[in-house]
Amino acid sequence: MSIPILGAIEGGGTKFVCAVGTQAGEVLAKNHIPTTTPTETLGKVIAFLREQERELGQFKAIGIASFGPLDPRPASPTYGKILPTPKPDWTYADIVGTIRAAYDIPITFDTDVNGAALGEWRWGAARGLDTFIYLTIGTGIGGGGLINNQLMHGLIHPEMGHIRIPHDLESDPFDGICPFHKDCFEGLASGPAIQARWGQPAETLSPDHPAWKLEAHYIALALANYICTLSPQRIILGGGVSKQTHVFSQIHTEVQNTLNKYIQSPQILDHIQDYIVPAGLGEQAGVLGALALAQQALT
Ligand code: ADP
Ligand code: ZN
Repeated sequence: MSIPILGAIEGGGTKFVCAVGTQAGEVLAKNHIPTTTPTETLGKVIAFLREQERELGQFKAIGIASFGPLDPRPASPTYGKILPTPKPDWTYADIVGTIRAAYDIPITFDTDVNGAALGEWRWGAARGLDTFIYLTIGTGIGGGGLINNQLMHGLIHPEMGHIRIPHDLESDPFDGICPFHKDCFEGLASGPAIQARWGQPAETLSPDHPAWKLEAHYIALALANYICTLSPQRIILGGGVSKQTHVFSQIHTEVQNTLNKYIQSPQILDHIQDYIVPAGLGEQAGVLGALALAQQALT
């Protein structure tokens, strides 16, 4: 019997990563496609998948984990589409419709962060948990995860990057850059916010730059809010900014100080370094997430 082959599409604001893999999480082929217009980008995605299919055999399912906001509710009239976004050309881009026109097989469509969370649950840092968060801190900030073993959806999907956190204008007079809320969490702490505040890209700031103390402070405030509202068993941090591993210990201390021993869990009181952790799948979290979504489409 041949192994079922799955298609995986990780849709990002700057690039789409497409892969072909197995149910065990083995990636057999992978390609990066720059995000331009929906027609051009998705055309190239389909061309790549078709080429791989000729070599590796027919896909059984396709998983799509995309940047948002998007509509993941199958019964909704805008299911499978990107919802209004400042990103030129992508408002109401019909991602699932376009892929379905080429492939009449099961397709799962979800946020990039829910995909990454599912990948981490299957193969990474969230194995064995039923309630946890995956948060990306990169060009934007977004969160997803599982609650009682179900991917987080609801009204539409969570927007964890747009929560409001205390902003002391005296110590940080930066206005914030979110086009909707200015100084929401994303407006204060995303990669582009760090760059706008300090005048240079986050990856070029040295570990002893004051940017990191402030960044750890904002991340810790946000995580304390998620801990109090969702009671996650673990929090996984991904995205470009989370590559600064030295910031984790500052986040750990600040989360403990903010919660002030109120939440009586040994994970927070004694083992916080195993509670707020980097993505176990590293840079592969996104594409393996899409593969995990494809696998879910089969079941
Ligand atoms: P995207 O969010 O577009 O999928 P990333 O997660 O790589 O991509 O996020 C890009 C953002 O992360 C940029 O603002 C960039 O400055 C920042 N970034 C990338 N690498 C690093 C790094 N090593 N340290 C700190 N910031 C980084
Ligand atoms: Zn916002």
